Amino acid sequence: MRARTAVSPDAPVDRPLPVNAMRAGTERAIAEELDAADPLREFRDEFVRTDPEAIYLDGNSLGRLPRATAGFLDRIVVEEWGTGLVESWETWITWAGRLGDRLAAHTLGAGPGEVVLSDSTSVNLYKLAAAALDANPGRSTILADADDFPTNRYILQGLAEQRQLRLEMLPSDPDRGLDLDVLRRALSGDVALVVLSLVSYRSGALLDMAAVEDAAGRAGARVLWDLSHAAGVIPVRLGADGAELAVGSTYKYLNGGPGSPAFLYVRKELQQRLRQPVWGWYGQRDQFRMAETYAPVSGIDRFLVGTPPLLSLAAVEPALDVLERVPISRLREKSVQLGEFAIRLADAWLAPLGFRLASPRQAGRRGAHIALAHPDASRICPGLRSEKKVICDFRAPDRLRIGPAALYTGFTEIWDGLDRLRDFVGSRRYEQLPVAVSRVT
Ligand SMILES: *Cc1c(COP(=O)(O)O)cnc(C)c1O
Repeated sequence: MRARTAVSPDAPVDRPLPVNAMRAGTERAIAEELDAADPLREFRDEFVRTDPEAIYLDGNSLGRLPRATAGFLDRIVVEEWGTGLVESWETWITWAGRLGDRLAAHTLGAGPGEVVLSDSTSVNLYKLAAAALDANPGRSTILADADDFPTNRYILQGLAEQRQLRLEMLPSDPDRGLDLDVLRRALSGDVALVVLSLVSYRSGALLDMAAVEDAAGRAGARVLWDLSHAAGVIPVRLGADGAELAVGSTYKYLNGGPGSPAFLYVRKELQQRLRQPVWGWYGQRDQFRMAETYAPVSGIDRFLVGTPPLLSLAAVEPALDVLERVPISRLREKSVQLGEFAIRLADAWLAPLGFRLASPRQAGRRGAHIALAHPDASRICPGLRSEKKVICDFRAPDRLRIGPAALYTGFTEIWDGLDRLRDFVGSRRYEQLPVAVSRVT
């Protein structure tokens, strides 16, 4: 049986969060005061800003470019690739694990040798889900959140079909997330695997990792976490909360750049017992002996497949250099304040214009982003970008997602962004714009 920590009384959702005495009101001066008192404000200058007018509230989708990244990659390309050529692999080959260890220690609450960077979040989810299912052959049910990010649902649909398993999609509230009692009721002795996002991509609803692990553990089921919207902004405690498996992207709050390789975590005690389904040479013992048959290494590298996209992997390093200068708990405090301030302004300005908060109101139950529902959100979002230079995103069916990133978003940016949104919607200007046809929202 797995060692489990009891549900800790200070689990993330219950811990009181310091929402500093923010002066009541909605004046811009309050935002200016909060920025002036913000100990993290110097970090804004660590990121590239080319248009001072633009307000970027989409750090949950693609983090900003750290100032150091271009120079760092230039050196890797010119010196290590250009001059070192193939000999540079001598060091490059260790980077997926080296950066994984740094990520583990600073952002995930995991130990050395438990995290590695590889592939995409989708592919890592497939590998770890398949490995967990193979390790539990007597059970035939997978539980997942019906409102989880699409790739997670599709990957599980595929696995269930390929293996003749039953995939049960748990109903979850699109605004408030999954209710733990719904999960508890569904946990039978037939459940092999539960797949959940710690922070919901749509509403930002935050689950209690320790409580989920405890409930699943009692039923003998394994949990696979997707930390894409949590890593780098929620103090994740994989080790202390008893988590065994997790994946997540590095291009959101971790600022690794478009398509930077995802991370995967497998708890140390479990690694030897799991085998992932894609048997590539990067997981092979004595990789360069080119042995005839596959025999995976015993550590975390057994979950690797092939050559990493080195330049994208390298871009995670300068991003971590910045992130490691701030404890995640400190980022969380600011992130909560940003969210509270945004909700206050939305209540005062946007509710009268037909917006509704579509995220948990309680700060301790939210990640870093908030969702605002409006019947015309699909037209407001592109117009807000083109006419007002406010970048947030649209999520079907009717939500604007506002994703401030505590490392580089200021309170005045929230104020200005929502002020422009109020102005744009109040004037009904969006009704005159042609319906934008965009492949990416
Ligand atoms: C962003 C995100 C992903 C992204 O998956 P990719 O394979 O990188 O495209 C996966 N899951 C969740 C929950 C996400 O938010």
